[in-house]
Amino acid sequence: MKLPTDHSFFSSIRRLLHTYNLPTAYQLFESPPSKEVWKAKLNSAVDQHAIATWKEDIQEKPSLRYIQYRCPLCRDILRAETRAKLLTGTYTLQANIAVFNQYAVSPTCTLCNTEPECRVHFIAKCPTSNAVRDKYRARLHECLRLQGREEPLELVNNADSFKQLIVDSTQPSVNNGHLPSEKEIESIDLLSREYI
Ligand SMILES: [Zn+2]
Repeated sequence: MKLPTDHSFFSSIRRLLHTYNLPTAYQLFESPPSKEVWKAKLNSAVDQHAIATWKEDIQEKPSLRYIQYRCPLCRDILRAETRAKLLTGTYTLQANIAVFNQYAVSPTCTLCNTEPECRVHFIAKCPTSNAVRDKYRARLHECLRLQGREEPLELVNNADSFKQLIVDSTQPSVNNGHLPSEKEIESIDLLSREYI
């Protein structure tokens, strides 16, 4: 029997299963779940672990005590996670899946079936989100206009810059020599959090 502190592959797996409150490797070996069941169980276990950890953190940190951590925070966590993944390019879109499964998976967006589901499509182009996006685009345009940005309409109407403003508005590609103030970054960020 290995010590719990050792770093072998099997010990790491055992620790992971224990951390996420999942069945032991032996139980999984005895009755292996189907791929779908395992995927759902894993996602739910990771979510529950993340929420439990946040709740513990909130209890320990006085400044976080006033946060409503029931539904709103769970939603915020998921949103923050989605945005972080979109920003780092680790959010799994059809186009990403297709890269690794060339023959088995189509990169086409499963919501609209019009073009590959890449980041720009997901955030700025998918027609199934047009209604929500148009409202948000108008607010983002107003926000940029109030900050004195040049050509705010071009920025929000161009799919690439719209996507970039949402995932990270500090990038040079959407600033064209303009140095955004902290207040401006914060206002765009607040709006972006409502959108994604
Ligand atoms: Zn689509």
